[in-house]
Amino acid sequence: MGRKFIDCRDYPSEMNCSIAISADNEKELIEAAMQHAAAVHGHQDTPEFRNSLRQAIKDGTPPVDAQTRAA
Ligand SMILES: [Zn+2]
Repeated sequence: MGRKFIDCRDYPSEMNCSIAISADNEKELIEAAMQHAAAVHGHQDTPEFRNSLRQAIKDGTPPVDAQTRAA
């Protein structure tokens, strides 16, 4: 099983979040991403939002540089 990740840099927000979360399985990843989204971005923990997190999962590891470079 490969590594999976969600990169917050792919989702522009008012706080320019640069967090990337990675895990070995989808369940762990969604859980961690949901906690991050709720705590940092104020998202509601809903089945719909979890579904959109699932769509955001990419295979591999987070790139060192995002498309939008910070400094
Ligand atoms: Zn974030």
